[in-house]
Amino acid sequence: MNSELLRKLPKIDELLKEKEVQEAIDNNPRTLVVEALRDTINFFRQEILKDRIEILDKEEVLSHALNLVSKKNQSNLRKVINATGTVIHTNLGRSLLGEKAIENVITVAGSYNNLEYDIETGKRGSRYSHIEELIKKVTGAEAAMVVNNNAAAIMLVLDTLSKGKEAIVSRGQLVEIGGSFRVPEVMKFSGAKLVEIGTTNRTHLYDYANNITEDTGVLLKIHTSNFKIYGFTEEVSLEELVTLGNEKNIPVVEDIGSGVLIDFSKYGFTYEPTVQESIRKGVDVVTFSGDKMLGGPQAGIIVGKKQYIDLMKKNQLTRALRIDKMTLAALEGTLKYYLDETEAIRNIPSLNMILCSKEEVKKKCIKLKKKLQRDIDWFNFTIDSDYSMVGGGSMPTEKIPTFVIKVTSDKFSPQELERILRTGETSIICRISNNELILDGRTLFDKDFDTIVQCFSNIK
Ligand SMILES: *Cc1c(COP(=O)(O)O)cnc(C)c1O
Repeated sequence: MNSELLRKLPKIDELLKEKEVQEAIDNNPRTLVVEALRDTINFFRQEILKDRIEILDKEEVLSHALNLVSKKNQSNLRKVINATGTVIHTNLGRSLLGEKAIENVITVAGSYNNLEYDIETGKRGSRYSHIEELIKKVTGAEAAMVVNNNAAAIMLVLDTLSKGKEAIVSRGQLVEIGGSFRVPEVMKFSGAKLVEIGTTNRTHLYDYANNITEDTGVLLKIHTSNFKIYGFTEEVSLEELVTLGNEKNIPVVEDIGSGVLIDFSKYGFTYEPTVQESIRKGVDVVTFSGDKMLGGPQAGIIVGKKQYIDLMKKNQLTRALRIDKMTLAALEGTLKYYLDETEAIRNIPSLNMILCSKEEVKKKCIKLKKKLQRDIDWFNFTIDSDYSMVGGGSMPTEKIPTFVIKVTSDKFSPQELERILRTGETSIICRISNNELILDGRTLFDKDFDTIVQCFSNIK
């Protein structure tokens, strides 16, 4: 039986003559199609050897091969649908760009541009000039520059201001962010000597004052953006730190993390310190991420006093940490929205999703549920209230009231369903809560609803 089926397995040359395969070759690299045919034949050979096939259907072999071709030709880095409700999902690419930012990226990616060219003088220009004024305007800082990410920003700041010198940090602020960023390690790497002061829960102004020596390079404050400690705690305020720094003529540096540029407490959220506030309070240098609460591309933004920013611009490290034209284009497009807060909230997807009311999310859920129910009757869809998270190590204790669609089925466990949706033609990333599969409406877009329905229809 087996040997007869094995004999019937088509050869690659034979399959190559098929019309559909020829079409696939017209639209895909030939090597890739041949590879898919070879993989398909191997797959069916294994199935036959394992006695899992009784009749060999050539159509089935072809369709398996053509599916494989489209899978192989997909980009590795590709779109997924985020149904987790976590808005700034670091594993799913953090912030989505607003329209203006996307337009800018497309323009500079496909055209020559004035990246380092001064159109007025016809001479060489600086890539940072395009956004420095805008960052200054939005944050109120004297000067600004941008590097690859906030980790790079801190490294550059410490390398410039504290190399071979001591950087004083509270023990309560020696944070780890997402595993790849640990304050003590970044500091070691930068060549600054870490001087830990205070305790995990309490650090006083005298802890800073008593540890200042001739070797002190900076007083560093790190915003503990991804956790909160409660109870018997004490932190030195920015004002006090700035006063001490001014007295001793030592720059005060703050890593504010998320890059919050609007006051979220106005919208019912816990207050998160803004970049503008730190600048107003006289902090010498502030660093923050471009792709967290700011809602732009991956970038590390450094703002503060001109004398310090100028030193950083001259640092050789800046060349190694410099950002690409696409980042600049995206950042300019994003920051322009901030010239008007309402525009920012309307057009920057991260802000928009975080501030979207639960009633709005419910409307989205109802619309999607209707579409799902119309086409699919082998799953149960129900709407329920739940909570979303901001994510990206931002506002860790904030639970945003939301609405979700719960999916149940007699045939699949929530874990199986989660895997099937994750590995389908378009990946839908869901969460499981209380042993139920959940699609959170907060991070879903109307434009993806048909795709979501299609993904569910594919599950039989
Ligand atoms: C996220 C974060 C960082 C790292 O920023 P990246 O832009 O991811 O490099 C550093 N410090 C704080 C406080 C953060 O929240």
